[in-house]
Amino acid sequence: MEQVMQSDVATTSAPAKSQDSTADINQPGHSRSRRRISDRVATIAESATLAVDAKAKALKHAGHPVITFGSGEPDFPTPAHVVEAAAAACSDPRYHRYSASNGLPELREAVAAKTLRDSGYHVDASQVIVTNGGKQAIYEAFATLLNPGDEVIVPAPYWPTYPEAIRLAGAIPVPVFADESTGYHVTVDQLQRAWTKNTTMLVFSSPANPTGAVYDKEEIRGIGTWAADNDLWVISDEIYEHMVYGGAEFHSLPAITPALRERCVVVNGVAKSYAMPGWRVGWAIAPPDVVSAMTRLQSHATSNVCNIAQAATLAAVSGSLHTVSAMRAAFDRRRHTIVRMLNEIDGVNCPEPAGAFYVYASVKDLLGRRIRGQRASTSIDLAALLLDEAEVAVVPGEAFGTPGYLRLSYALHDDDLVEGVCRIQRLLTDAAE
Ligand code: PMP
Repeated sequence: MEQVMQSDVATTSAPAKSQDSTADINQPGHSRSRRRISDRVATIAESATLAVDAKAKALKHAGHPVITFGSGEPDFPTPAHVVEAAAAACSDPRYHRYSASNGLPELREAVAAKTLRDSGYHVDASQVIVTNGGKQAIYEAFATLLNPGDEVIVPAPYWPTYPEAIRLAGAIPVPVFADESTGYHVTVDQLQRAWTKNTTMLVFSSPANPTGAVYDKEEIRGIGTWAADNDLWVISDEIYEHMVYGGAEFHSLPAITPALRERCVVVNGVAKSYAMPGWRVGWAIAPPDVVSAMTRLQSHATSNVCNIAQAATLAAVSGSLHTVSAMRAAFDRRRHTIVRMLNEIDGVNCPEPAGAFYVYASVKDLLGRRIRGQRASTSIDLAALLLDEAEVAVVPGEAFGTPGYLRLSYALHDDDLVEGVCRIQRLLTDAAE
């Protein structure tokens, strides 16, 4: 996707090169419009996952029976008691005013309590900042902790926002690749090989997007200890904490690596666990000085998160985990179906993920083959072919830094899932050498 991202940018938002290189655009009277978009922002790629989703939704709207495996959100409604809490908050004038930039005090307390309940990690409310989704927490953590030239190790395949937000902070993402042979788990040895004297941070996520990889306790402890020994900051993205299947268990990095607590930012939110992606509430848990700095940044960017959404979040995180168990059972069932059906296709290798709600299938053996008269030489081509010929939307691995793979979300109805994978099977079984 690196290439696609670049070419997307080139056609949409790259800064126009000055035609007269000797002209000083800062001279009075000189039009500044030649550099309409800052260099910093011009290089940001569109979120490929949201782009696939938008294209599939547009095709659906135009009457095409598209089945989308592109979605990064649960296909369940927000629990009723959460919606009711929001409705009640709408009529309460207390919520009509600005509130503290770092979040409603009662929500910060509730997040601290929930963190102890779900992660066994004891934190104080002063360590919590409520943000507009986990995304803002990640953006602010990078902006707060990174300096230009810092290197940040990012296990790949990675969630596309990480490298973009790292670059926006002036720092350099350093991908460390793991493939299907290890279930997409990176090792301490690999991290060590990527380490330089400029490395200041590691991004870690388990369960992970896009691979669904879940690291076990010893792996996490090993990675956490390595990071602590090297004085690194770690962003631990724990947004899929409740989406683990079979014998897999979620473990919070700072909970099992106390040595890291002074240099760790946990990112979490309600989007996945409580089926609340559109409510836009997340949070970061960090040492108090980092939370204060992030709060100063947020106070000038977005101020408080919408109070109604915070009231809904308070109901979600302080209520039971009943809804998430029901979602987990459905995801687990679909996970088995999709892995089995994808592996029936010659040329597809799909490891069984232990968490999140994605499968990450290698399609390297299909590339270059003729499919309905066309040759897909990259996973981008293959994803385009699947959309055009089978009306199925998937996200190509280029989006996650690893060409040759497809990510399929199984957050869709069981019948749609089976119909969609049958379409993929029919198309790809036509593939000739
Ligand atoms: N981290 C990961 C790994 C994700 O997949 C997502 C959502 N796709 C987020 C963070 C952010 O979620 P949100 O901003 O919706 O809370």
